[in-house]
Amino acid sequence: MSATPFRRILAAATLLALLALSACAAGPASHAGQTAAQPSPSTPAPTPSASPSPTARPKPGSLDWYVSQVPTFPEAPPPRPVPLPVTGAIPFWHRVPTDQKVAFITIDDGGLARPPAVPDFIGRARIPVTMFLNSPAAEEYGDYFRQIQASGGIVENHTIRHNSLSGRSYGYQKEEICGAADKLETLFGKRATLFRPPFGEYDSTTIQAARDCGAKAVLHWSETVHEGKVRYQTPEKVVRPGDVLLMHFRPALMDDLLAALKAIHRAGLTPALLEDYIR
Ligand SMILES: [Zn+2]
Repeated sequence: MSATPFRRILAAATLLALLALSACAAGPASHAGQTAAQPSPSTPAPTPSASPSPTARPKPGSLDWYVSQVPTFPEAPPPRPVPLPVTGAIPFWHRVPTDQKVAFITIDDGGLARPPAVPDFIGRARIPVTMFLNSPAAEEYGDYFRQIQASGGIVENHTIRHNSLSGRSYGYQKEEICGAADKLETLFGKRATLFRPPFGEYDSTTIQAARDCGAKAVLHWSETVHEGKVRYQTPEKVVRPGDVLLMHFRPALMDDLLAALKAIHRAGLTPALLEDYIR
């Protein structure tokens, strides 16, 4: 029997899963990606007779520079929320089933690194973001995440301990999901309505427990972004309407946000808020 193409797809899927897993599980990045510090001149710069430029360009790597690099997007369309099942299982999505010209930025975890310029970048560039946080990190660094929340960012649920849920008992999964949801609600004043399982690993029990803890959908992702590079899971290498981009609170998050924005812009789309589409 000619199972080769299917095997190839399986192998590709396995590779993608491994990539995704390593994307979520990898340790600290070796460096932040934008460490090219300008050497300070040992002698004062000669005073030019020509007048200095009245509009000094922001220094690469500064917050002003990141803001200056953000593309200008077409205005986001008025969101049309996607239909959700009224009863039964909640959906599990790799991307939001919409044909509106939008894509979604999501940032996971929270415990590893929180670049200090990120809240201001998100605020000044008005980047819509959804944060899937582990509740202990959310609690320990609450002020940081509340700054992003104040700029319109939404906090969602990514369990307490960031363990793989697949194959675990209902009781264990419910404790991880409801426990995080309860804590996040206390910290941020809003019940999480979306759930993302650690490493993207889940089973039917996960869907059930997420629903029982108040989630309206379980979210995977369509693209990952790491150290300023977008990794696509389709050969077309383009962000499509409804795609969900995954990045993490890691040292290069400024670069990851910028790379995601540029990729969304290249595709002719505008970043939008996940919660405007899944209500
Ligand atoms: Zn994670």
